[in-house]
This record gives sequence, C-alpha cells and structure tokens, in this order.
Amino acid sequence: MRLLFVGPPGAGKGTQASRVADRLGTPHISTGEMFRHHASQGTDLGLRVDSILKAGDYVPDEITIEMLRERIAEPDAKGGFILDGFPRTERQVAALDGLIGADGLDSVVVFEVDEDALVDRLLARGRADDTEDTIRNRFKVYQEQTAPLLAIYEGRGLVVSVDGIGEIDEVTNRILSALRPQNSERTTHHAP
Ligand code: ADP
Repeated sequence: MRLLFVGPPGAGKGTQASRVADRLGTPHISTGEMFRHHASQGTDLGLRVDSILKAGDYVPDEITIEMLRERIAEPDAKGGFILDGFPRTERQVAALDGLIGADGLDSVVVFEVDEDALVDRLLARGRADDTEDTIRNRFKVYQEQTAPLLAIYEGRGLVVSVDGIGEIDEVTNRILSALRPQNSERTTHHAP
C-alpha cells in the first residue's frame, strides 16, 4: 500500500505512521526525520537545512523533492510506503504524481486534532524545533501551504479522516480499521 499521513505539527502522525508501517510491513518515510538526521550528522544537505528547520519554515522544494525521489527509488519502497510529511506543497504533490502516477496512492490519512491540544503536546515533546515561536510558525505554514492541498486528494476520493485524539493504541486501531477495504467509506472515525 502507498499511503500519505497528513496533519498539523504535533498531530501524532509520525508516531502513528511508524506503527502502521510496522503492521503493514512497509517503510515509514518521514522527510522531517530525514532532514533532522542530515542536520545532526552535519552532511552538506544538513548544513543547508539546519537554520530552516530551526525557524520552522519549509525546506525548498528542489531539495525536498530530490531527497524523496531517491528514497522511494530504494528497493524497500517498491512494495509500498507510508509518507509522513510529504507532500506539503503543490509542487511536491505534482512531483509525487510524476513519480508514482496520479493514481499511485491508496489512501491519504488525515489527522483531525484540536489545536490547543497540539501546542501542549509539542511543548511537552521538547524537540529542538519545538519552541513556542517555531511551533506557531509551523502551524501557520501548515494552514497556508499544506491544508489546501487536501482538496486535491479529496477530489480523488482518497482522504480518510481519523480522529487523532486518544490513546496511542486506540488511534492506531482506528487508522487500521479505516484502511480496511470492507470499511472503506471515506468518513471520520471517531473515538467510541
Ligand atoms: P512537524 O510535522 O512536527 O512539523 P516534521 O518532522 O514532519 O515535523 O517536519 C519538521 C521540519 O522538517 C518542518 O518544519 C520543515 O522544516 C521540514 N520538512 C519536513 N518535510 C518537509 C517537506 N515535505 N517540505 C518542506 N520542508 C519539510
């Protein structure tokens, strides 16, 4: 299966993408993690993106798209993948279409979460780019650039909305049941 996990910062999509990827036996590909890895290793790419990550801005599309293109060409991604944090811009959507075809995705899992809950979660997480200013900027950038992209995937009938609030296991189960073919009506799956 080829899936996208989309949601505002702190929605828990990274945690869930990794758990669902394990269950499905596909790689979890997080562009944010890849950038953080480069930054911590001090690679050329890492040096270019470090200050961008710290500001909470988006890395330029050319860089992000090329990194992603190389990653999904690797053998482990042949049978499918979960993309977490890509695509985030219109150009990235077009690039992904070019790489896997406009009908290449199975579903786009969208996390629904209350914004106040998100700020609390992010401050508690304490990652290097989780200062209050950066968080606020990441939200703004998500709302302006990424949220509007969902209309494209809505139009293709791919969006599966999942309530992201609850115990980690509970949310994982919600996602897995929302992805089951017999349960594929595109509706929001709420907590019981
Ligand atoms: P979060 O969802 O909490 O913002 P991520 O790990 O997904 O965390 O992303 C962290 C940072 O990595 C982003 O703020 C951005 O700077 C960069 N980044 C990740 N994915 C992309 C992307 N697809 N396009 C541009 N920048 C990205």
